[in-house]
Amino acid sequence: MSDEDIAAVVEVLQSDFITQGSVVPRFEDALAHYCEAQHGVATSSGTAALHLACRALGLSEGDTVWTSPISFVASANCARYCGASVDFVDVSADYPLLDPNALEDKLKKTPAERLPKILIPVHFAGMPCDMESIAILAQQYDIAVIEDAAHALGALYDGQACGNCAYSDATIFSFHPVKSITTGEGGMVMSNEATLAQRMRLLRSHGISKEPAEMTQEVEGEWHYEQLELGYHYRMTDIQAALGLSQLQKLDRFIEARRTLAERYDTLLSELPLQTLPATLAKRQSAHHLYPIAVAHRAQVFAQLKKAGIGVNVHYIPIYQQPYYRALGIDASDYPQAEKYYRDTISIPLYPDLTHTQQDKVVEALSGALAK
Ligand SMILES: *Cc1c(COP(=O)(O)O)cnc(C)c1O
Repeated sequence: MSDEDIAAVVEVLQSDFITQGSVVPRFEDALAHYCEAQHGVATSSGTAALHLACRALGLSEGDTVWTSPISFVASANCARYCGASVDFVDVSADYPLLDPNALEDKLKKTPAERLPKILIPVHFAGMPCDMESIAILAQQYDIAVIEDAAHALGALYDGQACGNCAYSDATIFSFHPVKSITTGEGGMVMSNEATLAQRMRLLRSHGISKEPAEMTQEVEGEWHYEQLELGYHYRMTDIQAALGLSQLQKLDRFIEARRTLAERYDTLLSELPLQTLPATLAKRQSAHHLYPIAVAHRAQVFAQLKKAGIGVNVHYIPIYQQPYYRALGIDASDYPQAEKYYRDTISIPLYPDLTHTQQDKVVEALSGALAK
């Protein structure tokens, strides 16, 4: 948080509107401009953004969503909120991103009535999925695509900003404090489809409209409003949007800092007995949200690093391993690459303010843990 961030929030607190004023639309426009998308719909969280996108695309009971098992549970939960079934597509061997080959196989094997209505590829660790291959298959099978770009604000695909929706119906971002920029809690859906954006705005605010053209009843006076369908309260406040606008000014610097630190890890770790993910993939530039490594004896190494005061984590336990999803009867043997990836992975600290001294300490602790 910079002084500018704090001043931007204070300015809203001292203005007439702390929510539903002019700052949320300004943040939406600014991010849409940054991503070169037509529309931005700000939400109370990334999860709310996923749910809105699913609802607006008409997802309901009897439908199915396919997503990546190596993700945060929100990527799958959004489908369950709509009463839809969830299934998973395995990740690639070289990087834990939804594998277009596994997708093609699974599409071919699935009876027509059980094909997914929506596919949610996840840009894990800030690395965009192979969107072109995914989009070709989605088009062929008439499947809508929502990009879960919670990790990937600031990433590039084919030289274009992630979030431009060139290969999808919608792209969602999260502004939780661990993501590229923060609003405390918050999210946004980007889309180039005007009717979809309109529907998401309606559903974001209870399904209530005051638009004269949308009224179905006689308008007695200016107070008139109509609830046209069952929506939610998923709005972002102006306080949050002010922080988001201020943070957006620094996004490119944040990503640059993450990239430099990730490259420094690449060099420092190259002599250690561990595996890192590829720094780049064809046509893609990562937002470097995470720095996952693969090590033998993961549990011991993790415990050693914790003991040394290093803020390590594991991203992620495959979603189908969660008791809630287990109970839905999903078979882990269907996802060999996700299993293999999860078995050895640890995320080590990576954030824009990480100093070289801190980074050296991480590498030293890691080196010690691996020697045991
Ligand atoms: C953070 C995250 C979300 C959800 O975002 P919230 O703002 O926390 O609701 C969804 N998907 C992925 C991959 C995430 O990392």
